[in-house]
Amino acid sequence: MKPSFFNVGGLPRCVAATALVLGALLCAPHADALELPRARSVPGGVALVDLGPALVAPQASVEGVPVLVSGRPGGWTAVVGIPLEAEPGERQLEVRREGAPLERVRFAVTPVRYAEQRLKVAPGKVDLSAQDLARHERERVRSAEVIATWSAVAPETLRMQPPVPGRRSGSFGLRRVFNDQPRKPHSGMDIAAPTGTPVVAPAAGRVIDTGDYFFNGHTVWLDHGNGLLSMYCHLSRIDVKVGEVVATGTRIGAVGATGRVTGPHLHWSVMLNRSMVDPALFLADRGG
Ligand code: ZN
Repeated sequence: MKPSFFNVGGLPRCVAATALVLGALLCAPHADALELPRARSVPGGVALVDLGPALVAPQASVEGVPVLVSGRPGGWTAVVGIPLEAEPGERQLEVRREGAPLERVRFAVTPVRYAEQRLKVAPGKVDLSAQDLARHERERVRSAEVIATWSAVAPETLRMQPPVPGRRSGSFGLRRVFNDQPRKPHSGMDIAAPTGTPVVAPAAGRVIDTGDYFFNGHTVWLDHGNGLLSMYCHLSRIDVKVGEVVATGTRIGAVGATGRVTGPHLHWSVMLNRSMVDPALFLADRGG
């Protein structure tokens, strides 16, 4: 039998066509695949889990939460945020491929020891009054809704610009002790800058929340797509409105000292699959 486009080596027509299309896609250059964040498979880090080739992007989730999958038919990667409170060891990704049963892909989370930081702040910001506690509770409910945002649009980039110039502290993950009381670890990057310094979107996105929060002060949340979110806190002013679409470099506000702070700085958090991860992993250079 003479091979042709629709009849390769005696294969049924549809199988042969699929094989040819898949072959062409697998051999295609991957120049336009997004550059991935740096991998650091620790609590508060990002695991890059190879999902192999597939014509259609596989869907992945971790403990029921959808996970960002990036790549091309030649090779897909799950970009998984690991919560700061995760125990080191093995974690599981649930992967659904078109026409295939649910698959479990394991990946390892290695231990990390973050430094401890002791801070003195106004007593009212640690021992909350009944009124402040009630406010914080309401804000937590609202934050949980924001954090659960999943938009189907894929991010334009997985590499970000610093949202403000300035000295970037390597403070992500610090185990913080406020006035001798242990609190949640620091889940973002602090960048020291004077009040009024413009804060810009480090990547394209949509504004999904703005507000004045008890701990975080004036805050902006951006949705970059597929569960990649970012948050900007302690702002002196907010220059965007909910629903606005921003390009990389668009001014979203200015550095300030609102909320629970010891001085003016930007607190920047990056969230993947509802887990705060180290923003430094998304910067082109290594950060501070
Ligand atoms: Zn901070």
